[in-house]
Amino acid sequence: LSTLTPDIIEKLKTAVGDGGWIEDAEGKAPYLTDERDLFHGQTALVLRPGTAQAVADIIAICAAANIGIVPQGGNTGYCGGSIPNADGSEIVVSLARLNRIRDIDPLNNTMTVEAGCVLADIQTAAEDADRLFPLSLGAQGSCQIGGNLATNAGGVQVLRYGNARDMVLGLEVVLPDGRMLDGLRALRKDNTGYDLKQLFLGAEGTLGIITAAVLKLYPRPREVVTIFAALPGAKAAVSLLARLRDGTAGSVTAFEILNRACLELVQDHIDGARDPFTEAYDTYALIEISATRSDGGTREAAETVLAEALDAGEALDAVIAASGQQSNDLWRLRETIPEAQKRAGGCIKHDISVPVSKVAEFIDQATKRAEHDIKDVRIIAFGHIGDGNIHFNLTQPSTDDAERFLAHAERLSSAIHDIAVGLGGSFSAEHGIGVLKKPELERYKSAVEQDLMALVKGAIDPKNIMNPGKIVSPKT
Ligand SMILES: Cc1cc2nc3c(=O)[nH]c(=O)nc-3n(C[C@H](O)[C@H](O)[C@H](O)COP(=O)(O)OP(=O)(O)OC[C@H]3O[C@@H](n4cnc5c(N)ncnc54)[C@H](O)[C@@H]3O)c2cc1C
Repeated sequence: LSTLTPDIIEKLKTAVGDGGWIEDAEGKAPYLTDERDLFHGQTALVLRPGTAQAVADIIAICAAANIGIVPQGGNTGYCGGSIPNADGSEIVVSLARLNRIRDIDPLNNTMTVEAGCVLADIQTAAEDADRLFPLSLGAQGSCQIGGNLATNAGGVQVLRYGNARDMVLGLEVVLPDGRMLDGLRALRKDNTGYDLKQLFLGAEGTLGIITAAVLKLYPRPREVVTIFAALPGAKAAVSLLARLRDGTAGSVTAFEILNRACLELVQDHIDGARDPFTEAYDTYALIEISATRSDGGTREAAETVLAEALDAGEALDAVIAASGQQSNDLWRLRETIPEAQKRAGGCIKHDISVPVSKVAEFIDQATKRAEHDIKDVRIIAFGHIGDGNIHFNLTQPSTDDAERFLAHAERLSSAIHDIAVGLGGSFSAEHGIGVLKKPELERYKSAVEQDLMALVKGAIDPKNIMNPGKIVSPKT
């Protein structure tokens, strides 16, 4: 790849127009560091195009001059995928100004949005049309739909509605040669050859820049029941999930677990967070059950199943939110775990998945391994147990020093990933690869899978200008 010359910089500025670029160090700073402060890059220029055509013009200029391009959404990703390299040779393309909702069609249950729309704004727009857009995650106030689709984000409602990938009908993408792939079709049936959009969903910006998407909408729930349950352990959580799914006609929308250490961490570091129970328990589940009917039947069904679970010893105590505020307070206990971890010092994170039936075994084995390696380590295990996706995080002992603790990261993470993969799982469930997990991808993906990925990358981006160095290198 080439370096940026003053001549190319001028061409790029002209392509985006006034207000579409940032050159000063202070203005560029937020685009050059990731959410977790693990990755730091440099660039001569941050571009903020306001139209899809401007994105195409930028890419055509970069393709002709062999300049690397790093797409960036809300910059909330966990794997360093949105950060340029350290030598300053790549440009950052922020999609933030491409933030129009182009169309909502309530009868077709679809909306067409631009890539830079913030996820929470999309949820609100759907609600205003009396519909639901169900993608929901802790970063929804700042992540963008383009970033969500590029990472195939998961979140808390996957067990009912699927991953981001499942919520897309059509995609508009600018390819690495500057051509526009216009696939903004709002069709639920379209078997006309390869489903090309799937290539770009989850590709983390390595095959092109997503500029717009047609998203699926769903009926808006009229009754939402939020439950916080105390459980004897993760095994009981899996049984309770099955019991609730059977007993509420498949209305479970979210089923999250957190261990005792999570609740303690949140209480220590987040203002106003408090334990809903007077006694301490091993494990907690935050459950949401929702239905489009509003006759109270959903709550009744949930109460019946909970009573059975309490009798069976699967649940030890439970509270049901009596108001929207109480529901928000319970969700806050779950959603603020990442923030509490940040404040608690050094943290080693894992985003693994295993078959739901193996979650308890994974937590047991991984806990034993971490406690064997690091005395007094705090096991912060939480997440989307309904999808078999656990954020098995380790926070430094309060008496330790962050740097000494983080020195364990590489060895211990490999061991934790080995446990997940050994149980038929994945070392990266929903956060993607970026640069952080590239070595693990090389370790775990089969030679055939890696070869095919490199061939796809090479076929679509032979010059390797789209987010170079992320996920996979091209094979031509
Ligand atoms: C508090 C918190 C909670 C989170 N919870 C979850 C969770 O529950 N589930 C989950 O899956 N993730 C979660 N995440 C991770 C993160 O929010 C998601 O990965 C999110 O989808 C990233 O969106 P973004 O707009 O911030 O993308 P960015 O971080 O800006 O970019 C992510 C990747 O996508 C690429 N990209 C961005 N926009 C485009 C585009 N328009 N076209 C092509 N490529 C693009 C970037 O180059 C990069 O490789 C969480 C993060 C935080 C901070």
